[in-house]
Amino acid sequence: MPWKLCPYCNKQSYSAATHYQIWLCPYCGNDLTEEPENLSPLDELEEDYPE
Ligand SMILES: [Zn+2]
Repeated sequence: MPWKLCPYCNKQSYSAATHYQIWLCPYCGNDLTEEPENLSPLDELEEDYPE
């Protein structure tokens, strides 16, 4: 599930498929449409690169 890190409140914002063209942070309401998109949850990234 794609998500973006909101630079305004530093929370993970997950996309709603029906509103994909306009991506608003559900926490602070700022427009994240131009922010870079991440494809994996932070937890999974850590599992992919063990110590
Ligand atoms: Zn936000």
